[in-house]
Amino acid sequence: MTGSDDHTGGLARLRGFVTAMADVLESTADEAVILQSGSALLAGLVAHDDWLPADCAVPHPDRYQQYLLHCDSRERFCVVSFVWGPGQGTPIHDHRVWGLIGMLRGREQAERYDLAADGRLISAGTGSVLEPGMVEAVSPRIGDIHRVWNAIADAPSISIHVYGANIGAVERATYTADGGRKRFISGYANTQLPNLWDRSVRA
Ligand code: FE
Repeated sequence: MTGSDDHTGGLARLRGFVTAMADVLESTADEAVILQSGSALLAGLVAHDDWLPADCAVPHPDRYQQYLLHCDSRERFCVVSFVWGPGQGTPIHDHRVWGLIGMLRGREQAERYDLAADGRLISAGTGSVLEPGMVEAVSPRIGDIHRVWNAIADAPSISIHVYGANIGAVERATYTADGGRKRFISGYANTQLPNLWDRSVRA
């Protein structure tokens, strides 16, 4: 982070979020409770659009970007900013761990899928549109396969994701409509993380 990108005050929100998230994970291993408590915390984080560092909000002309904002030291969870340029979206994919998606800026649309007994994908019949402040969840237990795209045709959209692992290192899959699948490990777009921990700077 550069000096001209001084979001330390605003980053106190993110610091508070990751601390509270660690408290939740310390208190329970029950995924339903983690998703419920985590959703409330994430809704609080994305209720304000004044803290995401500008360099973690930059779209790429060709593909969506996934910037790591924080990873728990035991890789129990991570926080990522997803930045969609106009017209960008994901292939159909899974997560393999629980995940929370909180809309920060713009609008995002998703379509969910289930796996049939023969391995083919079937539409779960549930699409969703996320507006700023809204949160939704995925996991192998409640439905883990979806595709997501920017619902705004001429501007970037940004959502903040929380996953129950260091998601950029998790081996998972993308799917084709006929049930074909391909292994992928997403990695991250950034090599430097926001400094949440300089408490000397006040908002
Ligand atoms: Fe996803």
